[in-house]
Amino acid sequence: MAADIEIERLRTELQGRIILPQDSEYDEARTIYNAMIEKRPALFVKCKNKHDVSKAVHFAKTNNLEVSVKAGGHNGAGLSLVDSGLVIDLSEMKEIDIDPKKGIAEIAPGNTLSDVDKATHEHGLALPVGVNGNTGISGLTLGGGLGFLTRKAGLTIDHLIAAEVVLASGEIVTANENSHPDLFWALRGGGGNFGVVVSFTFTLVPIKNVYAGPMLWPIEKAKEVMQFFDNHTKDASHDLYGFFAFLTVPDANPFPEHLRKKNVCGIVWCYTGASDKIEEVFEPIRNFGPPILDFVGEMPLPTLNSLFDWLYPPGLHLYWKGHYVNELTDSCIATNTEYGANLPTTRSTMHLYPVDGKAHEIGQQDTAWAHRDIRWVQVILGVTDDPKKNGLIMDWSKRYYEAMVPHSSGGGYVNFTMQDDDARVKESYGVNFDRLSELKKKFDPENFFHLNQNIKPATS
Ligand SMILES: Cc1cc2nc3c(=O)[nH]c(=O)nc-3n(C[C@H](O)[C@H](O)[C@H](O)COP(=O)(O)OP(=O)(O)OC[C@H]3O[C@@H](n4cnc5c(N)ncnc54)[C@H](O)[C@@H]3O)c2cc1C
Repeated sequence: MAADIEIERLRTELQGRIILPQDSEYDEARTIYNAMIEKRPALFVKCKNKHDVSKAVHFAKTNNLEVSVKAGGHNGAGLSLVDSGLVIDLSEMKEIDIDPKKGIAEIAPGNTLSDVDKATHEHGLALPVGVNGNTGISGLTLGGGLGFLTRKAGLTIDHLIAAEVVLASGEIVTANENSHPDLFWALRGGGGNFGVVVSFTFTLVPIKNVYAGPMLWPIEKAKEVMQFFDNHTKDASHDLYGFFAFLTVPDANPFPEHLRKKNVCGIVWCYTGASDKIEEVFEPIRNFGPPILDFVGEMPLPTLNSLFDWLYPPGLHLYWKGHYVNELTDSCIATNTEYGANLPTTRSTMHLYPVDGKAHEIGQQDTAWAHRDIRWVQVILGVTDDPKKNGLIMDWSKRYYEAMVPHSSGGGYVNFTMQDDDARVKESYGVNFDRLSELKKKFDPENFFHLNQNIKPATS
């Protein structure tokens, strides 16, 4: 651990501040989304700007401290914290600068998806982000970024046009198509492996309101619903998006009493096309089944993107596993319906997020996010508010995951992995892994940034 005098010197050099174990803010600083993770860092550097980040990098190197990077703190594996090490905490870097004429946003790394949504929505613009508003824009972007606009507008990284990065050397560089283009390529899916991103610049899309929300069907119809979901969305216009889910109907308003606590399946829709086509688009969907609950209607995009935040607030215990899935064969559907009908807790769920549509128009090797040919990202999500049930949710998630291995197209979305998934990193990057490993050697040869879905530097 660094000597007190060194810490005091760093304190005087920073615009931001340092939090130590004896400080009253310490426990709050080490609280992250997943309450299952308990770590005790030696110090937090709460950065205010890129120079603070660079100083924190130098300090950690000089004092031989292990480093983690914390932005939104939503990583399921708790990669944002490090026992006895230094946390580069970006959560107070909150600037958002929007140029509505150019349709561009420059976003500091401490913003949540809701922060971004709110700021862009004021201009009638949107960035494709994820389905839970309190997730951090940083970790989500660096892993790829899936959400309701994926079919219409692609992944979050498909809108990244520049990033400012503090490298492992402490140097601050700009990465875009002209400056460090190889780094720019690696950042679009390669996670936190290549440096600390202190600013993201994105292009925005003109979307304000959407026709969206969940429809539910009885669990007994899960097989037919999955088949319908597959067939109906296969050739659908990119304006129509839906993710499939197994869930338990919440025991709360606005859900009708007779459905509460029932195990069901559902599709959460998001339609971004012309409003005079809504009836035509949703007629076959409403006629299939019909659904036992239909909460689909017009709403602002930020409302949709935070619709489930109340159900999944920070502080829950979470264990997730994931796969890339290309085909919903009969046996794949049978496996899913078996586990989907036996959710271990009321908040546990399984989602199939589409990654086709616009996301398929980018080449496999155009960004680090390799699996442009698959149709879905699956997340198997064990969740509880009762730590005594941690074993139960982990067991269900692991068994479900194992049962799905034969149906996976290989690998899984790096943002839905736990620490015990490290062996899958290579598979998850597929054809891009070797190039990523070479770039890791170039930008971070000592693997200084290793608390992430770690890509080891190439050895030859
Ligand atoms: C409830 C919930 C819903 C989710 N929904 C979605 C979804 O719809 N779509 C989706 O794609 N993902 C989703 N995710 C996954 C999410 O993208 C990842 O958990 C992501 O890591 C969260 O980013 P963060 O900034 O909050 O993470 P943090 O925990 O703060 O950081 C995670 C890791 O990212 C890296 N990192 C973060 N910021 C930086 C930076 N500025 N520079 C360098 N490295 C950095 C570091 O390696 C760090 O360890 C969801 C997660 C949760 C818990």
